Amino acid sequence: MAKHSSSSPRETSGSSGGKKDGSSGSGSRTYTTSSTWYCNNCNFGPNNINIDACCPNCQHRRCKYCRVTTTSVASGR
Ligand SMILES: [Zn+2]
Ligand SMILES: [Zn+2]
Repeated sequence: MAKHSSSSPRETSGSSGGKKDGSSGSGSRTYTTSSTWYCNNCNFGPNNINIDACCPNCQHRRCKYCRVTTTSVASGR
């Protein structure tokens, strides 16, 4: 009777996770984002998203069909 050393074959499954984060910028700038929206009813705009909940022109309430544009403005010089 011989002792059998059970050797389990190990499969080296290399987890190839090549994820590169290319967004590494120094954030030492203050950005002010201003969102404006255009009425899809009468195409009036730009309207301030914070002030004008409804279209000043046709009183159309801003819905998901209205185009919203967000622009980031770097404040400071
Ligand atoms: Zn409108
Ligand atoms: Zn709308």
